[in-house]
Amino acid sequence: MSDCIFCKILDGDIPSNRVYEDEHCIAFHDVQPAAPVHLLVIPRKHISSLDALTPQDQELMGHIMTRIPEIARNQGLEQGYRTVINTGEQGGQTVFHIHFHILGGRQMTGL
Ligand code: AMP
Repeated sequence: MSDCIFCKILDGDIPSNRVYEDEHCIAFHDVQPAAPVHLLVIPRKHISSLDALTPQDQELMGHIMTRIPEIARNQGLEQGYRTVINTGEQGGQTVFHIHFHILGGRQMTGL
């Protein structure tokens, strides 16, 4: 998607601080961290949101979910972390390329 910020990050057209990558996904630091550690994990495939998932994406989503603990551990989040997926405008989604937030490094409250 030519106008997608995260596709541009994937292509290297927008710089990012990558902490993980494999053939299906990458993880990088959020530019406006909401916690001491705030990472985003995105698939290489452009999928606009949870709402746009199809049965064909099942394996890819499972892959990302099973990578998240390893990514979090490698960033020192052994004490725990929060994962968030915002969906749609009212869900607080601002970038329409599906992403998993990983937040940690402090006590999470609320929700
Ligand atoms: P959401 O509001 O769930 O769509 O989350 C989008 C996230 O992307 C926000 O936390 C932004 O701070 C983050 N973000 C936007 N642009 C960039 C960028 N160029 N590099 C890293 N994170 C970004």
